Amino acid sequence: MNQLQLLHKGAIRQGPGGDAETEKAIDLAYIDRSAPLKIADIGCGTGSSTLIVARLLNAQITAVDFLQDFLDVLEARAQSEGVADNISCLCASMDDLPFDEGEFDVFWSEGAIYNIGFQKGVADWKRYLKPGGLLIASEISWITSTRPSQIQNYWHSEYPEIDMASSKIKVLEENGYSPIGYFVLPEHCWLDNYYRPMQERFQDFLDRNGNSEEARAGVETEAKEIELFEQYKPYYSYGAYIAKKVR
Ligand code: SAH
Repeated sequence: MNQLQLLHKGAIRQGPGGDAETEKAIDLAYIDRSAPLKIADIGCGTGSSTLIVARLLNAQITAVDFLQDFLDVLEARAQSEGVADNISCLCASMDDLPFDEGEFDVFWSEGAIYNIGFQKGVADWKRYLKPGGLLIASEISWITSTRPSQIQNYWHSEYPEIDMASSKIKVLEENGYSPIGYFVLPEHCWLDNYYRPMQERFQDFLDRNGNSEEARAGVETEAKEIELFEQYKPYYSYGAYIAKKVR
């Protein structure tokens, strides 16, 4: 693991989100909570969404991440929360998934699809869904049609695919999905659930790494992202996108 990954290993979540928001996505998708389902959680990290989905649904979940260290934490959390029988961890890359065509009812992915890009993820993952299967993914999105150039430039260089919901929904439609729900993650999903707990780990992380240059650079990168969010949060958030495979 690199230093930044270690900073995130101790976290409940590795990206913005929340249990209530994961549950809201389940409801918007009209998922029957008693139906036996086969679900993949892609880029699951230490399992923030995996664990709540396991608690709320009657599902067998394959939790996929390319960092075994994160999966080890998820495994331990699943054991202690009594949902280990519903979750199997798979260390694999999201652009090379060892699944069969039409194997899954739901592909879940919170704060992770950007690693291969929304377009590619949406297009590539569809083959693993059953006809009528669901894709539920969160993706950083502009929430206004214009924005100050500082934040536009920052996120554009960090993630060139950042765009408005209307464009993301178009991508879904063009790739054979029918969009059935969208909502914006509220601010507390970033601040209370992700950034504040991360800030609380900064000092300990620096101490444990002997205040190394790499550790300081990692903290600085995260601190800058947090500062920008605090200044420009009216302009962007994560969008939760729920879509059904129709062809
Ligand atoms: N879903 C979790 C984690 C989001 S952070 C949450 O919401 O808390 C993104 C996750 O994607 C990280 O755990 C990271 O290790 C994983 N990841 C990044 N690139 C990946 C890839 N190519 N294949 C699989 N997982 C990847």
